[in-house]
Amino acid sequence: MPKWITQVGCPYCGASCDDLEVLVSDDGKRVLETRNACAIGNEIFHHAQSPSRPKLPRMRQPDGSMKEVSYDEAIDYTAKTLLAAKKPLIYGFGSTNCEGMSAVARVAEKGGAVLDNCASICHGPSFLAIFDNGYPSCTLGEAKNRADVVVFWGCNPMHAHPRHTSRYSIFPRGTFTAKGQMTRTIICVDPRETDTAKLADHHLMVKQGHDYDLFDAFRTVLRGHDIPDEVAGIPKKTILDAAKVMKNARFVMIFFGMGCTHTDGRNHNVDIAISLTRDLNAHTKASIMAMRGHYNIAGPGQVWSWQFGFPYCIDLSKGTHAHMNPGETSSIDLAMRGEIDCFVNVGTDAGAHFPIRAVEQLKKHPFITVDPNICMASEISDLHIPVRVVGVEEPGVVYRMDNVPIQFKKVVDGPEGVPSDEELFDRVYERMCELTETEPI
Ligand code: SF4
Repeated sequence: MPKWITQVGCPYCGASCDDLEVLVSDDGKRVLETRNACAIGNEIFHHAQSPSRPKLPRMRQPDGSMKEVSYDEAIDYTAKTLLAAKKPLIYGFGSTNCEGMSAVARVAEKGGAVLDNCASICHGPSFLAIFDNGYPSCTLGEAKNRADVVVFWGCNPMHAHPRHTSRYSIFPRGTFTAKGQMTRTIICVDPRETDTAKLADHHLMVKQGHDYDLFDAFRTVLRGHDIPDEVAGIPKKTILDAAKVMKNARFVMIFFGMGCTHTDGRNHNVDIAISLTRDLNAHTKASIMAMRGHYNIAGPGQVWSWQFGFPYCIDLSKGTHAHMNPGETSSIDLAMRGEIDCFVNVGTDAGAHFPIRAVEQLKKHPFITVDPNICMASEISDLHIPVRVVGVEEPGVVYRMDNVPIQFKKVVDGPEGVPSDEELFDRVYERMCELTETEPI
């Protein structure tokens, strides 16, 4: 009899929904149906069943073709390549569990590598702002139960985090927001009329790249000063009206995304957003949260902060201490300057999402991909090592966008012989110890 597994986590976006239900076949090997997931989440579970998924590592041959090799060969190649490199970069980790992140840290230390995650090209600027200015944040549960004014600034959850609005931010009925959407006023700040903007009560169509000016205008108004007739393409009256809505709220929740971190100003946009949140707390209660992208991209920030004291861009090449300086030790900067002589892509697709000039630089040296699926990175790699899919075939701890840890389940058996990220990196570490005749720690 097929059986329903409940309280399943979704391994896709930072909403990290943990209320999915998955129907699995009676032999426990196939996903038949899902409930509660959005279209993207549903696809993740079905895609894991794809017959075209690789089940053995594939190594690039002298004629350019890929040939299947054993896991022992792939592990040996990875260990030797990391040890031979002067400055390897191990990057990715948006889509794996904390156990895998912890295991790779030993490998990175042993290989004197730079360890970095997708925050580097995503919410890294938010980290810089948080280092400077603090993080007056809360959990998504508090947003659901208390927020009566919700601001989406430079983010579009209707497309990027499809169930965010129904689980946490617009529609759910919370303890002090019993009428759900009726209780909440939604403000959206975005240059485009996105599907999130269409749901908003106030859409401020900011001029692209002028977010800092608009944050500044809000702060000026909240402090009782005058502003020009128009700021960042928004008329003064619209700004005054929106500021009044925030000031009169019981609890303001600001969610921000790539519209702040990828545009002119970057970390300074987030810095001033945090200052605006602090200013609002002089009038009411206010909180701010980064719309983290992948289901466990908050994980490396947590795990590596415990292990090394830094969340990303961690240079372990000195051997004696960890060093972090985004701009110097961040993946794209290192790649563009040609400082990397071995690249390991884990649980991400740098082939698709890095600028092409960075990929060209990285491709001059050994390029290894660890990922369950065929992707652009796997197809330009010298070695592609398949692993189990976390949340589908492998359990583990993940951190939601509000840094709340969630235990994800395994729902079906993974392909026979295919290891998890944790098992794979433990074996790479053991091989590195054998090769260097050192004791494992
Ligand atoms: S909103 Fe995100 S975490 Fe939730 S089901 Fe959709 S993709 Fe998965």
